[in-house]
Order: sequence, then C-alpha cells, then structure tokens
Amino acid sequence: METFQPPSVASLDHILPQEPLLMMGAGPVPIPHKVAYANSIVINHLGETMNKVIEQVKEMGRYVFQTSSRHVLGVAGPGSAAMEMAICNLVDPGSKVLAICNGYFSRRMAEMATRVGAQVTTVDVPDNEAAEVETIEQHLKQGGYQTLTIVQGETSNTVYNRNLEAIAKLANSYGCMVIVDAVCTLSTMPLEMDRWKVDAVITGGQKGLSSIPGVSLLAFSENAWTRIEARQKPITHWCLDALLADKFWNQKSYHYTAPVSGILALHEALRLVCEETLPRRFGRHETCSKALQRGIEAMGLKLLVPERVRLNSVVGITIPDGISGDAVRTHMSRVHRVEISGSFGLNIVRIGQMGEQSRAHNLFRTLHAFGSSMQYAGAVLDLPAGIAELEKGLSEKYSA
Ligand SMILES: *Cc1c(COP(=O)(O)O)cnc(C)c1O
Repeated sequence: METFQPPSVASLDHILPQEPLLMMGAGPVPIPHKVAYANSIVINHLGETMNKVIEQVKEMGRYVFQTSSRHVLGVAGPGSAAMEMAICNLVDPGSKVLAICNGYFSRRMAEMATRVGAQVTTVDVPDNEAAEVETIEQHLKQGGYQTLTIVQGETSNTVYNRNLEAIAKLANSYGCMVIVDAVCTLSTMPLEMDRWKVDAVITGGQKGLSSIPGVSLLAFSENAWTRIEARQKPITHWCLDALLADKFWNQKSYHYTAPVSGILALHEALRLVCEETLPRRFGRHETCSKALQRGIEAMGLKLLVPERVRLNSVVGITIPDGISGDAVRTHMSRVHRVEISGSFGLNIVRIGQMGEQSRAHNLFRTLHAFGSSMQYAGAVLDLPAGIAELEKGLSEKYSA
C-alpha cells in the first residue's frame, strides 16, 4: 500500500482557455509561430548541431547588443537570472556600487549588489523623471565607484532613462563599469553597447525579443571580462559563474545541460530581429506605441508619464478616480480575451508594446477592448475618437 496516492488533476485541455488570451501586458508577450515551433524541439545540448545554433545565437546577439564582444552568454533562467549573473560576476564584495533606482526593477539590481556584499549607494530618481546626468556626476565625483547599475526602461512605472548613453559614457570616464538592464527595451529602441561604453547588458526572452520566458541573454564587454578573469576566488553561485558558462558558450563543452528548446526559440526570435533589421524594428515600435498613446489620449484618458521621459515599450495609463483598474482588466480578459497588466502599487494599467505586441491588428483589438471595458467599469470616454486617432497614427508613417 503506497502512502501517497496519485492526485486527481485536470489535463491542460481543461485548464487552458479554449481561445488563448492576447498577451498585451508587461510580459510575457505573444511569440511568432517559428519561435513556438522551435520551442517544441529537443536536441542534444552538445555536439555539432548545437554548436552551430550557439555560434549563430552569439553572432545575432552581437548585432542586437551592438557589440563586437566575444562574451555573449545565455543563462537558463529569467531576466533576473541574467541580472544576477551580471552582478555577481562583476561586483566584488566590499566594492562600491552606484545603483540608479527608478523603480521596482532597477531597485532589484541594488538589492542583488547588496546581497553580494558590495557597498551600495542608491540614487532614487523622483517619480516620472529620468536619471539626470548632473546628479549622477555629483556622485561619481565623490569617487571610488567600481560599478554603476541602471535600467533603460523601467517597466514598473513606464519611465524611460533617456540619458542612458550620456550616463554610461560618463561613468566609463570615471573608470566605473556600467551594467544596463535592457530586459524590456532590447530590440525595441536603440542601445549601442560598444559605442555607449556599456560593460554588461542584460535581457530576458519574454519581452522585447518576443521569445519564451526562462532563457535569457547577456553580454559582457572585454573590460568586464578582464575584471571577471582577474577575480581572486570563485563566486558563490556555481550556475551563474560566467567563467563556467564560457565553457558552454565559447568552448563547446559542458557547464550544465543547456535549455535547448528555449535556446532554439531564442535563435528564431533573434533571427526574426535580424531579418527585420534593428532600424525598422525600432521604427515599428515607435510608430505603434505613439499611435496607441495618442489613441488613448484621444479617448479622454491620461498617460502616467510626461512625453519627455515616457517609455514606448510599456505604456502606463492612469485610471480615473472611482474606476477599478482590476475590474477593467478582468472584463477585458473575460469578454475580449485581451490581457493587460496592473502595476506595483500605482493606480495605473499597463499595455505592452514589445515585439509582437507592436502590430496594428493587436493594437486595434487592444484599444477597442480597453476602451469598451473602461466604459463597462463606469468611465466616460470617446471610444470612436480613440480608434480613429490610432488609425491615423498608424497610417501616417508605417504599416505595421
Ligand atoms: C521583466 C523585467 C525584469 C525581470 O525579468 P524576469 O524575467 O521577470 O526575471 C527585469 N527588468 C526589467 C526592466 C523588466 O521589464
């Protein structure tokens, strides 16, 4: 007689909705068919076929990161694992870190650096503002910082750090290495790792790249790699050790069994980015997001962040007084089968504009679902005006 009996559970057919929801939140995002198909394949994690795949992933990664660095690596894990890999390999215990905090995700880097045992100084950027170069320079002048962490687009409150390039170059001139979180922004807007003097770029699969969650990519600069190689003793995290990961990513040998299906999916996602080219992909994202933003405003709603520092990859919309954001989102999912995100503590909802989300057909469906669910929840707005403005914004420049 077994002590533990098998539980009676429903098959996925009974759990998953018959019509999948259109994922228009802050990630994961819809994935192209080729990515989904690649994700269904398992091959040997070592050997000739995998070697070819890895070579191409690195080559495409260098294009997407805009770097000639030989240190493009993947990690089996979420964007946060790539973040932790960058931090625990580059930040030594006791070293000084300047952590620019715009919100939830950038603060995570400060937290990770603290756990590594670094002396972390946080710079708290006020709400609805980007980090300013002068403020950062005042800190850097005080001296001794080995590492600076910064997010390009703060998904949590939809702020765009528009001075990233200047801040990275400035930190570099002070001999301070720069770690950039580009999880939601990579391939949706310009980021030039080499030219901007960035030492580590972090990304995840399920946002800008429109791949699956759980397999992430990062790149270290040659300078960063020199620091990693000069380390006196191995880091605590065996799985995240960049020198061990290098065995798989650059030396065709074993570290841990790579997430082969997810890497194949990432390969296809990157290949689609290369096929589209970065300039056209940036153009598509900008046009789509701006058109959506104007559509939302034309309906009579307000966007959270002023245009100067507004992120295009994720749009934050203020919920009018007396309306429940949760009720809006629930109605949207249930009736229109479109899912968007709430937020961490702010009275906003967020609509993602990353990768496949930035397509005209998805925008029309989402804006209609959003507007009519707002009305259902009691908001007074002009839905046709919003849709007309979206149409205008999309047809003016670009057909997505
Ligand atoms: C989503 C996100 C993360 C975290 O990615 P996970 O895959 O959830 O770990 C980090 N930074 C930013 C800017 C993000 O948008």
